[in-house]
Amino acid sequence: MKTIVLGGGVVGVTTAYYLAKDGHKVVLIDKHDTVGQEATNVNAGLIAPAHCFAWASPAAPKMLVKSIFGEKTSIRVKPTLSPRFLWWGLQFLRECTSGRAKANTLAKLELSDYSQRKLVEIAATEGIEYDGVNQGLLYLYRDAEELELGLMKMELLTTNGQKLERLDSSELAKVDPAFAAAGDVLVGAIHAPNDASGNSEKFSRNLMARCKEMGVEFKFGVTAEKFTESNGVITGLVTDQGTMTADNYVIALGVGSPFLSRSVGQDIPVYPAKGFSLTVDIKDKSKAPTLGGVDEKTLVAWSPMGDKLRMSSTAMFSGYDKSFKESDFDNIINTAKELWPDSLDWSTAKMTAGLRPMTPDGPPIIGKGTKHSNLFYNTGHGHMGWTMSCGSSALLADLIAGRKPEISTEPFKVRAIRK
Ligand SMILES: Cc1cc2nc3c(=O)[nH]c(=O)nc-3n(C[C@H](O)[C@H](O)[C@H](O)COP(=O)(O)OP(=O)(O)OC[C@H]3O[C@@H](n4cnc5c(N)ncnc54)[C@H](O)[C@@H]3O)c2cc1C
Repeated sequence: MKTIVLGGGVVGVTTAYYLAKDGHKVVLIDKHDTVGQEATNVNAGLIAPAHCFAWASPAAPKMLVKSIFGEKTSIRVKPTLSPRFLWWGLQFLRECTSGRAKANTLAKLELSDYSQRKLVEIAATEGIEYDGVNQGLLYLYRDAEELELGLMKMELLTTNGQKLERLDSSELAKVDPAFAAAGDVLVGAIHAPNDASGNSEKFSRNLMARCKEMGVEFKFGVTAEKFTESNGVITGLVTDQGTMTADNYVIALGVGSPFLSRSVGQDIPVYPAKGFSLTVDIKDKSKAPTLGGVDEKTLVAWSPMGDKLRMSSTAMFSGYDKSFKESDFDNIINTAKELWPDSLDWSTAKMTAGLRPMTPDGPPIIGKGTKHSNLFYNTGHGHMGWTMSCGSSALLADLIAGRKPEISTEPFKVRAIRK
């Protein structure tokens, strides 16, 4: 069985891995010259079931209106009349009830937990190095009332099996000494001891090497343009390097996914949310954080990646534009300087931006499309694609093989609109 995997982000590479394990002859294509060069290369590195809350929530519509009027809210919108954004946005608003938010969050939680187990399993069985830190993540609070609200919000997760601990500022400094001097800024934190962090681009690169040993062929510098079809079967993939054929095709193109699916009449609601990402060398390890986390006030997420620190912030719906200016990083830099003074070598700072492939409801899209017998999807992982990648790919391999997946795939089924 020959299968072409479209896309070499962490989702495409893990898909290729599981399919190769199942005996497929896999060819993976990507427009870049190696794997993991889009969202996979900019994310904050958090492997964070405790951060799986759906963005579509009762609080979101008010936040979006404020952002249209210029407030720096956590989710921002650049007003546009793009029909695709309006279609996506209406679906997002429909998901903002407390019932839908809860259902979407719990679906993401179950997948995140499962995926984290799969990531640990791949890393152990295949010897994949990825700067993993498995001592939990910290969700920081600067205000006592906000900490209480944070704990109340997290109850949904604790009643569904997540272990979370409340830390005051002195306990926080014991868990991560980098916060010893932050007592006047922070009132405490929520520690999620089972969350983790790591470098998804490094993971993808190292897993690619293992996949090659397993016979997977990687074709780089190839841009997928459209599919050809006949009677409900995909007959070919048209690329800028010619047409390629296979028995099965898997779309794992991140924000590029709907362009290919629409070429054969299947719309999927995946739309980009831009984020800014900064990577900087650690100058003084004794002052830099050893655990990753999120500052719940400034919404800067970070994780240590070897001798560097990766930080990201902002979720901006502004189309496919990845441009940025230096001032977009003020929030990240100010947060880091306040929390870990003198720990980082700012002369090495590398700034970039990336696009999260968001679905309006939150759960990704995994499985066979409704229109073609040999076209499969593994996309739309949004702000949690590193966390959910290995599990999503294991589920897709199960579905393709006709095995019973370990968790329900119902919330992830291929959809244009959630019914
Ligand atoms: C700022 C930021 C912070 C984030 N933080 C976290 C975090 O802390 N934890 C977490 O779990 N997730 C996080 N995410 C989300 C996570 O990075 C993504 O969900 C994940 O990387 C998506 O992986 P992917 O493989 O689907 O997409 P991508 O990594 O974007 O890969 C898609 C691939 O498809 C290729 N492609 C697209 N179109 C074509 C085409 N037509 N032809 C050929 N190739 C094509 C691209 O070149 C790319 O390599 C963050 C994302 C951002 C942007």
